[in-house]
Amino acid sequence: MEKLQQLYEGKAKKVFATDDPNVVIVDYKDDATAFNGLKKGTIVGKGVINNKMSNFMMQKLEKEGIPTHFVEQLSDRETAVKKVTILPLEVIVRNISAGSFAKHYGVKEGIVFDEPTIEFSYKNDDLGDPLLNEYHAVALKLATWDEIALVKEYTFKINAFLKSYMKSIGIDLVDFKIEFGKTADGQIVLADEISPDTCRLWDENTHEKLDKDRFRRDMGNVEDAYQEVMRRLMGE
Ligand code: UDP
Repeated sequence: MEKLQQLYEGKAKKVFATDDPNVVIVDYKDDATAFNGLKKGTIVGKGVINNKMSNFMMQKLEKEGIPTHFVEQLSDRETAVKKVTILPLEVIVRNISAGSFAKHYGVKEGIVFDEPTIEFSYKNDDLGDPLLNEYHAVALKLATWDEIALVKEYTFKINAFLKSYMKSIGIDLVDFKIEFGKTADGQIVLADEISPDTCRLWDENTHEKLDKDRFRRDMGNVEDAYQEVMRRLMGE
């Protein structure tokens, strides 16, 4: 596969065209941002970890019957993925209270829910990714009812799998954000990434944070935390 011109540069990844019109290459950077781009920094080695972890999880999820964008890992930082149009919806699942949920509803972090919650936000940096419900998403033509139903079905399956997988390596999956895309032939697939940038991961015993909150909240040992997740997942 030939890597051609850069199509797009986002906050954490670059995307390149290839000689196959249905495949693009994502190239993961070490750049980190938070609070809608207000806070900027670097997490050394993050790109490699996020690339490998995301690919590891996507391949496991494929085996569980979840269609994903994954095609082939090309290098430590580069992966070939199906070219998709991203649904402009961020899908957030929570198993334990934290972050904006704790803030909005005035509760402490760490409350374990009986059942996972799901919420959507409109993927739009200029507006600060506002929360919306399914009716809003349909009204704005961000997705159809059928697409939303499929997204919800996949999302809860993804949560069940990720939660139990993380538990097996001593990590509580607190919450995460995923994105879906539509392929040229209209299939809805899991896209973007699954990584410590997009998941809250707490050690099950010490409750130590092993994710991007260490960067957001200037807690230190950010690189160590990402590395620790990688070590537990893949022995690296
Ligand atoms: N998240 C993300 N990208 C975003 C917003 C949230 O990956 O633009 C992830 C975040 O890492 C966490 C989950 O989604 O795992 C829930 O985030 P929350 O709504 O609590 O927002 P935050 O407190 O991160 O602003």
